[in-house]
Amino acid sequence: MKKIAAGIDIGGTNTVIGLVDENGTILLKDNVSTENFPIPEDLVAVACEHIKKAIIRLGSDYQLIGIGIGAPNGNYFNGTIEFAPNLKWQGVVPLAKLFESNLNVPTVLTNDANAAALGEMTFGGAKGMKDFIFITLGTGLGSGIISNGQVVYGHDSFAGEIGHVIIFTDGRQCGCGRKGCLETYCSATGIKRTYSDLLMSKHIQVDVQTKVADAKYIYDKAIEGDKNAIDSFNYTGEILGLALANSVAYTSPEAIFLFGGLAQAGNFIFEPTIKSFEKNLLNIYKNKIKILPSQLKENDAAILGAASLIWMEVKK
Ligand SMILES: [Zn+2]
Repeated sequence: MKKIAAGIDIGGTNTVIGLVDENGTILLKDNVSTENFPIPEDLVAVACEHIKKAIIRLGSDYQLIGIGIGAPNGNYFNGTIEFAPNLKWQGVVPLAKLFESNLNVPTVLTNDANAAALGEMTFGGAKGMKDFIFITLGTGLGSGIISNGQVVYGHDSFAGEIGHVIIFTDGRQCGCGRKGCLETYCSATGIKRTYSDLLMSKHIQVDVQTKVADAKYIYDKAIEGDKNAIDSFNYTGEILGLALANSVAYTSPEAIFLFGGLAQAGNFIFEPTIKSFEKNLLNIYKNKIKILPSQLKENDAAILGAASLIWMEVKK
């Protein structure tokens, strides 16, 4: 019998399901719309049907050994999603239990950034590392902290919310209700805001809402040599480097991995980040900690990360 794990990524719009083997090969991948299921039980039923059919398609020598789930506000200890702001599901949803009772295999759930951090350690650039920080620079800023080979969960499973460290008191309004959080500056949304503020301060007429669709637009502008775009990356990197230098003090990591659209801007973001990082580090940490691009493919990271939850439990 060949063992296989299901990796599930619950997003606000889509839920992606993948069947992943021990080596991190995704054998089958499937999509279910999250938005179409306002009741979590209905989504679970459909997702389980997809998994059953996928395993039948793979053949009778495959055996499902568990389900790993990455989800916003996922609680590893309780297997629940708790008050996720971008999901229609209200309150506390016992998602792991719902999957377990449907498919009768162990189900483990964690925050999506923690899952991706585990994916980096199991299948990506952090293979062999025991202490590192994983940062996703998407719409927001997510983070997973690995210390001594384990995700740092804290007493309630919600440790490692670096995106909501306040970097400027009375700074930009954050989705969490507070002001000045790191993710309002260092994320795709953040750099868009920085770029449009910069243009406005110079009275440059650009319809930012329609033209600056994503961070990729600012990246393309930077490649063309647009000074405002380059300055926006420099500003973003300066703040990110400072925040990362501060976060180092808690766990003394060997490396910090950057993942997501903004991280794909290469040196435009890495150079100012590393410069500010080294400038702001305490002496004992200087020139020791690598800031590296994630080795996970953008589209596969969430599934691989979720599945690695199961492969890690197997190894225990
Ligand atoms: Zn916040």
